[in-house]
Amino acid sequence: MNDVFIALGSNIGNRSVFLRRALKEIDSLHGTQIERASSIYETEPIGYTDQEAFLNMVALVRTELGALELLGKLQTIENKLKRTREIHWGPRTIDLDILLYNQENIQTEVLKIPHPRMLERGFVMIPLYELQPDLHFPHTDENFSEIIEERIDNKGVYVWKRNNGEGEFGLFEN
Ligand code: ADP
Ligand code: MG
Repeated sequence: MNDVFIALGSNIGNRSVFLRRALKEIDSLHGTQIERASSIYETEPIGYTDQEAFLNMVALVRTELGALELLGKLQTIENKLKRTREIHWGPRTIDLDILLYNQENIQTEVLKIPHPRMLERGFVMIPLYELQPDLHFPHTDENFSEIIEERIDNKGVYVWKRNNGEGEFGLFEN
């Protein structure tokens, strides 16, 4: 089994429904379970800023799938949830990014792990820190709390729905 952290984001339509549907789809993949999920955070858009606020979260997933195989399945889920891809970093119903796959370093054209921009993104690192504060990052000796304190700006990242440990994945009541 492989331990994988996946970042989920949505900023169109009923954002929390897209997150929840994506989690259920991931959980139903062959040989794959959602182990734990972070709280849901509302975050101001970065890059292309003329768009609605995002809901973001991170899930810890255990899977038999290989990294590339998993990427393909996540893209199928994105398409199924009617993701549109008109603007780079623009609005989307659902974005599913693989942050870490075990402690592996994977650098191919279509798949880069660790996710290349994760260390600068508060909307990724803050939910990830909530989920696994003792996580070790491949290729850095810094510990997670140092990264959070020294590199991460928590401006524009707010808890939207606290994961209180209840419900199917701790967040499915509404
Ligand atoms: P972004 O997530 O940066 O906003 P996209 O979701 O449109 O952009 O991703 C564009 C491409 O990124 C995908 O076609 C995929 O092949 C590639 N990619 C590279 N590494 C990863 C990763 N770790 N997780 C998800 N997609 C990745
Ligand atoms: Mg993506």
